[in-house]
Amino acid sequence: MGKIKETLSRFMYGRYGIDQLYYASLVLSIILMTVNMAVRSSILSAVMLAVLTVMIFRISSRNTYKRRLENETFLKLWNPIAASFSLTIRRIKEFRTHRFRTCPQCRKTLRLPLKKGTLAVTCPHCRTRFKVRIRW
Ligand SMILES: [Zn+2]
Repeated sequence: MGKIKETLSRFMYGRYGIDQLYYASLVLSIILMTVNMAVRSSILSAVMLAVLTVMIFRISSRNTYKRRLENETFLKLWNPIAASFSLTIRRIKEFRTHRFRTCPQCRKTLRLPLKKGTLAVTCPHCRTRFKVRIRW
């Protein structure tokens, strides 16, 4: 076991390795594999093979600069999606106690305590005062 680990670490020396894009590709290939078990499409198999090839290529690549740029591009696309998803989860979790509203001035999302009626709100980011009506 130690010899395999040593061989692998010698192989990986100077190579790019694993990043967020790798994990996303892994999740994508697992989804493709699961879907393909049901539909058994050769096109899907080819796409899966392509994703796996790209994953292996990226891990073992020595052009770390280019791989890092790819990962940054991916994160620029992914981070807003992840943030929106986590806000949705939070809205559901805090449904009984809070409401989330967007500031009309700076577009930041504000977390307001649940009080039915019209609230006078001051945005903590830009100090804009506005009224929010919470019905339920
Ligand atoms: Zn604001």
